[in-house]
Formats: sequence, C-alpha cells, structure tokens
Amino acid sequence: MAFDYDLFVIGGGSGGVRAARIASGEHGAKVGLAEESRMGGTCVIRGCVPKKLMVFASAFPETFEEARSYGWDLGDALFDWSAFRTRLEAELDRLEGAYRNTLTNAGVTIHDTRATLVDPHRVRLASGEEFTARHILVATGGWPFVPEIPGKELAITSNEMFHLDELPQRALVVGGGFIASEFACILHGLGVEVCQYYRGAQILRGFDDEARGHVATAMQARGIQVHCGTDVMRLEKTHTGIRAIATDGTEREFDLVLYATGRRPNTRDLGLEALGLTLGRHGEIPVDRFSQTAVPSVHAVGDVTGRINLTPVAIREGHAFADTIFGGRATAFDHELVASAVFTQPELGSVGLTEEAAREQEPIEVYSTAFRPMKTAFAGKPDRVMMKLIVSQASRKVLGCHIVAPEAGEMIQLAAIAIRMGATKEDFDRTCAVHPTMSEELVTMRKPTRTA
Ligand SMILES: Cc1cc2nc3c(=O)[nH]c(=O)nc-3n(C[C@H](O)[C@H](O)[C@H](O)COP(=O)(O)OP(=O)(O)OC[C@H]3O[C@@H](n4cnc5c(N)ncnc54)[C@H](O)[C@@H]3O)c2cc1C
Repeated sequence: MAFDYDLFVIGGGSGGVRAARIASGEHGAKVGLAEESRMGGTCVIRGCVPKKLMVFASAFPETFEEARSYGWDLGDALFDWSAFRTRLEAELDRLEGAYRNTLTNAGVTIHDTRATLVDPHRVRLASGEEFTARHILVATGGWPFVPEIPGKELAITSNEMFHLDELPQRALVVGGGFIASEFACILHGLGVEVCQYYRGAQILRGFDDEARGHVATAMQARGIQVHCGTDVMRLEKTHTGIRAIATDGTEREFDLVLYATGRRPNTRDLGLEALGLTLGRHGEIPVDRFSQTAVPSVHAVGDVTGRINLTPVAIREGHAFADTIFGGRATAFDHELVASAVFTQPELGSVGLTEEAAREQEPIEVYSTAFRPMKTAFAGKPDRVMMKLIVSQASRKVLGCHIVAPEAGEMIQLAAIAIRMGATKEDFDRTCAVHPTMSEELVTMRKPTRTA
C-alpha cells in the first residue's frame, strides 16, 4: 500500500521535532508533522526556556545585594516586568521561528493544526483532511492538572505565568514539585510575597531527602513561607483578591494563586483507545523500550509516555525512535542515570540514586558536607551549600550525587559524565581539586559521614 507519508508526527515539541528532523533530514523519510499550538512545544513556549529566563531575572536582587558587600554602589535597582515580558516574548518568537525553519530545512511538511488518529495508519486533521502514514508518532506532551476544588477557575497554571499583565504583590503557589518550587523562588526573587502550600511532608518528592530539606530550609530562610502538610480546600473571589481556605484552618488572601500540582499526558480524544490501546492511570501511553505501542505502527515519545518528563529525555527518545525505524539501527534510550536540575534558589542538581533508594538496594557509604561558600560568606550571608555522594560499599562505584548550590545544574552535568562512566569513590579522590571552587568538595570528602 502506498502511504502519503512514511511518518506522521503529532506534536511539535521537544520529542516530535527531533524525531521528525532526524527521520526526514538524516534518514530521508517523507515526514508530516501537526502542531496545534506553537512550534517548539512546552519547553520552548511555556516551560524550560521562559522559566529559566525568569529564573535569571529573579536572581538579580541577590546579586545586587552581594555586590554592595563587595563595594559596589548600585543605587536603587527597579524591575520592570512589562519590559522583561516584551523581551521574553520576542525571544520565544525567535525560537519558535528557528524550530520551524529547522523542520522545513529538513524537508518536513508542517500542518499547523490539531491531528487525531483514525486507524493505525491514518490521521485526521481538524479540517477533516486525512493522511495515511506507514508510522505514526504521538508526541503530544502533557498539560497542567488542577484538582477539582471549588473556585479552581480563579487559579492559574504555569501556562499563564509568562503572560501576566503585572506582577502580584501576594502569591500562593500550590504544589511541591520542581515547577511549583521554582516558581515560588522566581516570584520571591521578583519581589512578590510568596506562600507555598504542599500537602505532602516535604517539597521536591523523589529527590534525595537531605537535599530536599536543604532546599526547603534555604527557601524559608530567604522569606518564602513553605507550608507542608497543607492543601487548599476552596478558593473564593473577594473585592481585593482571592481567598484561599486551607486544610490547616487558615484563610488567607492573595492576588495570584498558581497551581503547579502536576501534569497529565495529552491523550484525551486522540483516538488511541479506538485503536485498542489501553492507556495508563493518568492517560499515559504504554510503550516498549523502542517507544513502540501495542499497535506496531503507532509509537510515542516524551511526556505523553510518562517515563521521565524532561526535555532532553523527550529529545533522546525521539532521536532513538527515528534511528530505529528509519535509520536501520535499533536504538533504545537508556533511562538510567539521567541527571536533572531544579532551578530553585539555591539550585538542586541530582544524578543517580538517592540515599533512601540506594540503602534499599545495597550497603552504602554516604559522604555529605554542608558549608558556607566563599562568595556569599564574604557578603555576610548565612547560605550553605550541600554536596553529597552515595557510594556502593561493594563496587566502590558512586551511585548518586546530589548538590544544592548556586549553579548546581551546571555542576551536576559534569559529575553525571563521571558517574555514567562508572567512576568509583577512589576515582573522585584521585582527581585533583580546582581551587577555590565549591565543587572541589566533591573530590576532597575523605571520610564517610555514615554507612547504611
Ligand atoms: C513550567 C515548566 C518548566 C519545565 N522546566 C524544565 C526544565 O527546566 N528542564 C527540563 O528538562 N524539562 C522541563 N520541563 C519539562 C519539559 O518541558 C517537557 O518534558 C518537554 O517539553 C516534553 O516534550 P514533549 O515533546 O514530550 O512534549 P511537549 O513539549 O509538551 O510538546 C507537545 C506538543 O504537542 C502539541 N499537541 C498536543 N496535542 C496535539 C494534537 N492532537 N495535535 C497537534 N498537536 C498537538 C502541543 O501543542 C505541544 O506543542 C518543564 C515543563 C514545564 C511545564
């Protein structure tokens, strides 16, 4: 049977764009791609990129404060949200254009519309037009999930954070994951009074306990009111803002309520169930290690599969899919030892096992240190940095590394290479320090803090 396309990709985000570009540009497949919103997807339009730019914007007040301790006279520093937002929007437009060009240069046909599946080899666009394809890749990502509480329509999600007309004076962030914690820090850095409610015992679930505690303490020390074990029961509109009635019995008023309580895969009404696919509990698409679903011609990559919801993972999955199907090279992305960063202030960088998970696996040694780094100590600030290595007693391999420090995201990327290569604690010890740095502590921790 002759198909209109070798590959039809639904979703122009991190995973879909990479898969389409490699399949077409490198392996010569005829590729169509449908994107219902803006090219680039969550990461570029409403995720990593605008978020990181806001992180940068929000970090300046601390820098100014430190600068004064170093002898600088800066006068009054004022932040102009609308000037920043205008530049931010221009940057996103530029990036969206770059993604579009990359695809067209690679020979991909772009359909700026929603697409759904009709059968294992057929997609339908919103216009009713249909295309057949030998393979279909679902890369539709995820969408913020807001629980059903009275007044939920008064809250915004991370999607709207980048379009605020003005900054609020008082904000409530609901949620304890990396997105909630990052936005709590961003808003605080921009001068907003921030309260964070999280129903669990500690924010940043899934990360190393000691590191989570360190970040939470640092956020609180900066003035963010982190309330764990607290959830919102209902939201009410008042004359002057939004009242949040919480499970701890408090009623407080805010100008902005941001719900960052998780994301759900974008699979609703895509036509997947009609193909005979059974979706996961939250709507995620089950796939094998080559990103193939139970319907052989249908594949899925990225957040929609609910494996590890990070941009570089979606990109690698998309690339591996294209190499497997069109490059004649069966390639499975290895989801082990994926490093990640939480861009709170201070940042948290993490790779490998947490102390809690490692303890369950085998006998370990833990090397952990917390200290006041030179730069902020000089400025008279109480900030402490945390570095931690989890080491296998048997193999001596470093099983995990967790860093809470300014630029921890940059540090963990490099530590991840060594750990991925199977570095032992003794390899770390043999590595000569770079002095004076914060990360030199990673190669100078001689005695285990504890064994388990
Ligand atoms: C606020 C925030 C901050 C984040 N920060 C980071 C970070 O710092 N680092 C990191 O690694 N990750 C971060 N992430 C996660 C990262 O953005 C995602 O993991 C990544 O974008 C997933 O890529 P994807 O290709 O699976 O999906 P997406 O990028 O979500 O792309 C899916 C695309 O499909 C389109 N689509 C959906 N349904 C259809 C349809 N039926 N027809 C046509 N098009 C459709 C959507 O419009 C979207 O453009 C962040 C996410 C958020 C929300």
